[in-house]
This record gives sequence, C-alpha cells and structure tokens, in this order.
Amino acid sequence: MARILNFTAGPAHLPESVIQICQQALWDVGNGIGIAEISHRSAFFDDLMTDLEAQFRRVGAVPDSHAVLFLQGGATLQFCTIPATFTRPGGHIDCIHTGYWTRNAMRDADFYTRIHYAYDGAKNGFQHIPDDDEIAYSSAPDYVYYCANNSFLGTEFKRAPRCPYPLIADMSSNIFSRPIDVAAHSLIFASAQKNLGIAGCCVVIVDRAFLDERQSTARPSMFDYKRLVQARSMLNTPPTFALFVMKQMLDWIESHGGLKSMAARNAQKAQIIRDAIDATNGFFKHVGDENSRSSMNISFYSPNPELDARFVAQAESNQMIGLRGHRETGGLRASIFNAFPIEGCRTLAQFITDFAQKNG
Ligand code: PMP
Repeated sequence: MARILNFTAGPAHLPESVIQICQQALWDVGNGIGIAEISHRSAFFDDLMTDLEAQFRRVGAVPDSHAVLFLQGGATLQFCTIPATFTRPGGHIDCIHTGYWTRNAMRDADFYTRIHYAYDGAKNGFQHIPDDDEIAYSSAPDYVYYCANNSFLGTEFKRAPRCPYPLIADMSSNIFSRPIDVAAHSLIFASAQKNLGIAGCCVVIVDRAFLDERQSTARPSMFDYKRLVQARSMLNTPPTFALFVMKQMLDWIESHGGLKSMAARNAQKAQIIRDAIDATNGFFKHVGDENSRSSMNISFYSPNPELDARFVAQAESNQMIGLRGHRETGGLRASIFNAFPIEGCRTLAQFITDFAQKNG
C-alpha cells in the first residue's frame, strides 16, 4: 500500500524497515510473546535497556560525565521537573526566548523561580536566532535555558550558545538530527516522537555533577532524577514499546552512518525544499532570517491565507498531509525529521513549483 507523506511536526514518519521490525515484534520477540506484552522485569527487557543506553551513548557520543534517562510525561513534564530540581532558593534563571516552546517552558518555570530574559525574540517576531554577542546574561543565573530548534516557526541554533553558566537545552525537535555537543550542556531533554521514534518517551541527558550539586534531597518518585538514574529509568513501568522503537531507530541511524550522515542528509533534504521556494521568485517566502532557518521544520507562506489554505488542500489530495503552519502563526510548514524520505522532499519541491506556476 502506498504511504502518504506526513509533514506534521510530530508524531512523524518512521523508517519503513523499523515499522516492519515492530510489526513482527508486536507478535513475537522470540519467546512466543510480543514486545507490548513482555514484562519490563524480564531478562529480555533488561537486556534491551542495557543495549539501548549503550547504543544511545555511542550514537550521541555522550560522555560518562552525563547520565541518560528514558522518562515519560513528554518534554512538557521536564518544563516543571527541571526548574523544580535545578533552581536554588532566592535564585533566578536566564532564558534565551525564541518562541512558543521557550514561552511554554517559562510558564512552568515561573512557578519555581524568577526569569531573566537574556534574549527576547518576541521583539522581532521570533524570526531570528541570536549570535553569542546578542545574548545578555544576568549575573550568576542558576542555569541558562534555550530551545535548540523551534518547531513552531522553523528556526534553529546552528550550535549551542557559548555560555559561562550551566546550560539546559530542549532538543525535542532536533535531537540526533546532527552531532550534539553534550559536554557544553548540563542537561539536554527531548521527546522521541520526531527524530527518535514514537511518543511516550522523553530522553534526559544530565551532567552527574550538576545533579549531585543541585538535588541534595529526595523528591517524590517521578521527580527524583537521582532515584531514576539509580533505577535505570525503571522506577515504574517504562514505555516498553516506545523504548523498543527507539532502539530500532538507533539501529537505523547507525546503519545510515550516524549523526554526521544524518546532518548531511537532513541539510540536503531542507535544501531541496528551500531551493524550490527560492525558485518561485518571491511567490513563496521563507519564515526566519536566512542563517536562523531550521533543517527540521521549513516554514514558508504564499501571498495570502486563502492561497495557503488552497495549497494545504491540494497537497492533501496529492497524499501530502500536515503542511498547515502552526496554529498560532498560520502560513505553511513542512516538518522533515530524520526518517522523512529524501524522495518526499523532491515531491513537495515539485508541488511547490507547480503551485506557484498555476497561481502566480
Ligand atoms: N519542545 C519542543 C521544541 C517541541 O517541538 C515539543 C512538541 N512539539 C515539545 C517541547 C513538547 O513535547 P511533548 O509533546 O512530548 O511534551
């Protein structure tokens, strides 16, 4: 059966080979029981977790200084667990504010601490990712918070900001789409449903020394990173199937050459679509300053909202779904995470060209 092209901002495509492995595994992982049925206390699952962590570290070049956790509650639960754990009484945090996702994270952080905006992208409609010299850190924040890729408007940091304070990143929409400088961060978190598999698991990579320093007391179980580290993320029943899928995604990433290859492949995919937008001679326009644009989410717009709506509708009748822009911004957006096929980018590029010709 022909598969549609899914341009939504997640859950996203899985590689077809991964889907096939999952189909078989749902039926039987080798001992007459399926992956969604097997106990997380079984030897099979324990080995899976050991292999998953080892492979995650290898693929992501995660140093021993950092623990890796596979949690639930999505990236959104981290919006409160992070400030609840890593802020200090009477302290404050710095935020590099680049849009919807930093706003949501700060709304939750506000329950725990004061927030200083070291950069406020609202002033230019979030079209820009700041250079280091545009960020004005306060004095001794408990940490600095940023979102590495803003899925909502399609802007992305090309590298981690250089920062003299503990740095925390939301990498939900670009984790493992390219190599990561883990050592530059005290904590990285990312939900899995865009680049690492399916919804249900959020990865947290945390500097052990930072955790030791900031979490001096026990917390309620699901908020206690230290206990979660000790329990290898299995304090309670983990999202077993989502973790299995992540393991298959890591196999797929490795078989495609690892994160450097992912970066090249993702850049090529984004370029195919951006070139098609450029070739419409201004009919379609990009969102975001040129060097702030994302490889994961390509945001653009036509001369008016009616044409945007027509574009979305016609794309749907051509088996391309999810091209409507974020509900807060309008316009158009093509999300093309790791598993999105190159051929699908070519299909969209041709559709862009044809649409501009017919409607320009
Ligand atoms: N941060 C970013 C950058 C995201 O794109 C998303 C999801 N679209 C989230 C956080 C929230 O993730 P979740 O739905 O897993 O809580």
